[in-house]
Amino acid sequence: GPVTKAIQDAFFGIVRGEIPATVVLQDEHALVFMDIGSVNPGHMLVAAKPHVENLQGMAAELAGAMFRSAARAARAIEAVFRPAGISVYQANGAAAGQTVFHAHIHVLPRWENDGLTFTWPVKHPSREELERVAAQLRAAL
Ligand code: 5GP
Repeated sequence: GPVTKAIQDAFFGIVRGEIPATVVLQDEHALVFMDIGSVNPGHMLVAAKPHVENLQGMAAELAGAMFRSAARAARAIEAVFRPAGISVYQANGAAAGQTVFHAHIHVLPRWENDGLTFTWPVKHPSREELERVAAQLRAAL
């Protein structure tokens, strides 16, 4: 069941202090720790303290607190590394690249030609199409 699934989840173990991690920052909502698969030095993960699978599952207060911690992590990266840039990445669902099904945000320093690439297959929908989709989304809020 869902409890068993949660217990098997590495990040849930980390946020509960049952699995060791190199912690940078924490509060009641989120735990910020070093990514064991860092793309660049300073790569951190902001993980939810409660077990939520994804962004869609986050209550408003948790969502706000997660991004507050991400901003603090970004300021620490800025101070320590003075990087060329900072990326924030957050995947929801396997098709989106999520591999650990406990909500988390990546915050990492970026450098020119650091090898992290992202294809962004732009389409150019008509204004009418954008309006049609926006109406559907507004109705779902
Ligand atoms: P996702 O693809 O789900 O956004 O990213 C999961 C991230 O978690 C990966 O970057 C991976 O390196 C990291 N990760 C997976 N397992 C562990 C772990 O046990 N400890 C730490 N610190 N990071 C982990």
